Amino acid sequence: MPAANAAGISANKERYGCKMERKNCWKQYSDKRLNKMEEYTKEYMHFLNHSKTERECADTVVNLVEKEGFTDLAALVRDKKKLKVGDKVYATWMNKAVILCRIGEKPMEEGMNIVASHIDSPRLDIKPNPLYENTGVAYLDTHYYGGIKKYQWVTLPLAIHGVVVKKDGITEEICIGEDKDDPVVFISDLLPHLSQEQQEKKASELFGGEALDIVFGNRPMVKKGDEKEEKEAVKAQILRLLEEMYDMKEEDFLSAELEVVPAGKAREAGLDRSMIMAYGQDDKVCAYAAIHALLHAKKLARTSVVMLTDKEEIGSYGATGMTSHFYENALAEIMNLTGEYSSLKFRRAMAASNLLSADVSSVFDPMFADSFEQKNVAYLGGGLVFNKVTGSRGKSGANDANAEYLGALRGLLDEREVTYQYAEYGRIDLGGSGTISHILAEYAMNVVDCGTAVMNMHAPYEVTSKVDVYETMRGYRAFLEDFDLCRN
Ligand code: MN
Ligand code: MN
Repeated sequence: MPAANAAGISANKERYGCKMERKNCWKQYSDKRLNKMEEYTKEYMHFLNHSKTERECADTVVNLVEKEGFTDLAALVRDKKKLKVGDKVYATWMNKAVILCRIGEKPMEEGMNIVASHIDSPRLDIKPNPLYENTGVAYLDTHYYGGIKKYQWVTLPLAIHGVVVKKDGITEEICIGEDKDDPVVFISDLLPHLSQEQQEKKASELFGGEALDIVFGNRPMVKKGDEKEEKEAVKAQILRLLEEMYDMKEEDFLSAELEVVPAGKAREAGLDRSMIMAYGQDDKVCAYAAIHALLHAKKLARTSVVMLTDKEEIGSYGATGMTSHFYENALAEIMNLTGEYSSLKFRRAMAASNLLSADVSSVFDPMFADSFEQKNVAYLGGGLVFNKVTGSRGKSGANDANAEYLGALRGLLDEREVTYQYAEYGRIDLGGSGTISHILAEYAMNVVDCGTAVMNMHAPYEVTSKVDVYETMRGYRAFLEDFDLCRN
């Protein structure tokens, strides 16, 4: 073989470019972009503080979009109104699921650009018969929701959010533990001095699901005059308070949805304030990015949709989960109001759509380096994360995104100077993850998982990098404004 000549090498270099570089948003941002990022992340933290549960989040979103000129789909349908290019519309379902839509210039039949995320987060739910007293301590029994490491939830200040719906239909909204003067609740742990046996257990056995009961009080009701002494006086006192404060009886727990979440607000993290530490960033970080992108997107060629779904953490089932027909029904109603509906046109619209399944990704954690494959993992500060596959082991349960779709997305994001990284969740045989991506992929549309990298995912307090939070929104906005790939 002849020796390579200098001209040949430089021609090859030009052809193949230099080696791929991992970008870091902090190094790339201009002062102007840094300022905008700080402004955006402040708004995001405010959003988190008012959206700890799916119900609160749906409420916050409706208030926000109504101010921005979105109208309620149900009212439009009832009043037989029409929708035209530029119109903005929203629909909600059971106070927990939301869909937002801006009508684009092209017919819906040519496809929509959709960003779909979820607004439920792992937590502890109060059981239907929760209240009991044991040796002078009143407890609320819980049943955890979503994938949690149970030992992380003990000895923390916790808050209770939710609703109690009484037989007459009157709903009491409950929020205990968030106001600075509110009491908090908690789950106890054994003192280290007596933990020799406990500490020999495996972490997965330290706390069973039944061990996560909330300490709710320990002050007995004191009898007055000739009142009879209550057998469970602490529970009796709690019931008296519930009646006084919320006009509720013990049986009203039967028709309640009360969620126990970490108490307190989102905080900046790190001396350099580079990160955000907060409950429920999976997946409100992507939800807020999608909402903000849709609200601020310029004129849209394609009809743009944001779906905010419930029940993702437990498999997307139920009337408000991604598998519910609510989302499809709402889009069919919207298409109908634009005057172009037929069953066939609707199928074409869905198949010609592009979806960003907007959910968080894992991030490399140097403290657990062995759990990741370092070439194929997201890094804090590396920008918007794409997961071509999720699933587990041999990609089981994955939506495997199409290369043609990914190529077109890379082209757009480079043009719009959005920083992104391609990653897998972690070392192949360690576990895995699922999202809503495969559900909408059933309509035959383009789908890819794409969101923000999160450290401590599913822990009571999750951590994100501020630049990644901002870059997620910039990516979604570029997608809604400019992405146009229709295979049909
Ligand atoms: Mn998620
Ligand atoms: Mn999750």
